[in-house]
Amino acid sequence: MIDSLLSDEPARIAALQRLDVLDTAVEEPFEKIVTLVRTVLAVPIATVTLVDRDRQWFKAKRGLEADQTPRSVSFCTHTIKQREPLIVEDAELDPRFAGSALVAGPPHIKSYAGIPLRTPEGYNIGSLCAMDTRPRRFSPADIAIMSNFASIVCDELELRMIAQVDQLTGALTRRGFIEHADREIARTRRNGRPATLVMLDLDHFKSINDTHGHAVGDQVLQKVAAVVRATLRPSDVLGRLGGEEFAVLLPETGAVEAATAVERLRGMIAAQPIALENAKTLHVTASFGAASLDSETTSFVSWLKQADTMLYAAKAAGRNCARFAT
Ligand code: GH3
Ligand code: MG
Ligand code: MG
Repeated sequence: MIDSLLSDEPARIAALQRLDVLDTAVEEPFEKIVTLVRTVLAVPIATVTLVDRDRQWFKAKRGLEADQTPRSVSFCTHTIKQREPLIVEDAELDPRFAGSALVAGPPHIKSYAGIPLRTPEGYNIGSLCAMDTRPRRFSPADIAIMSNFASIVCDELELRMIAQVDQLTGALTRRGFIEHADREIARTRRNGRPATLVMLDLDHFKSINDTHGHAVGDQVLQKVAAVVRATLRPSDVLGRLGGEEFAVLLPETGAVEAATAVERLRGMIAAQPIALENAKTLHVTASFGAASLDSETTSFVSWLKQADTMLYAAKAAGRNCARFAT
């Protein structure tokens, strides 16, 4: 029987996008799994690989430098075309891979075992991989272990997607926030009360990571979330939309009141010292874009777009400031 799901590339990409996982930060469950694969199979390289339209991107990796590679040189692009694991004992003897840049040059992959990562709908969105820099066999026991780990990866991908609370900051996840905001829009329409959506994005956050390391970056994110919660009202809801970008929903709050709240928040974040290990402290600032709900705002998407446009204007105006949609 021909498995039509395996050849439906647009639907496969849609299934991958639904998981909302591409280009996200390091996450513990996937780190643990690649570490285990590497130890249990005694391979130098292990990855959780997601196969996007034109690239493969590593959600987790051990023993590899790159975050992604072109799809054309990848092994996984072949793995996702089948239901069974793909096992390559000697890549130099396999015409599909002998010429691949990953075989001929660094990381010099000579053997590969990839287990397709299958979504509940049946699409292969990537694979769990073990790779070695020398030819080797993978035993049935190796493959059975890998298959079990692959099924844990799939479960984790679903769990992280339906999670409502972000583990790092305690803010609502993007998905959780959208659900909350949709309810707020409906409620506001019924009772005619105001509400304001504020987006905030940390300024020059990349250079904080680059200068002080990712762990300090994470600490900054936690601190900022804590400051937002401590500064705003209990009924205000904080979401982490992605990376270092947050949103706050202020119910029962029109533009004038929101401007006061945002100014207070901006000042509190800028004034908050963040302790570093070397007894020094770090200061961060954020830029803000805000939009109050009006009769034209029918969906969260259009509301967010208004706030995002204002956030962009605040960045353009020099950062550490706020802009409001009129
Ligand atoms: P701008 O002032 O224009 O916003 O500059 P920026 O450097 O803040 O913006 P950019 O979007 O270039 O950088 C965002 C950085 O945030 C890049 C990414 O590595 C980092 N990042 C995303 N998620 C996380 C996370 O969970 N933890 C840490 N430490 N860093 C993260
Ligand atoms: Mg930023
Ligand atoms: Mg950003």
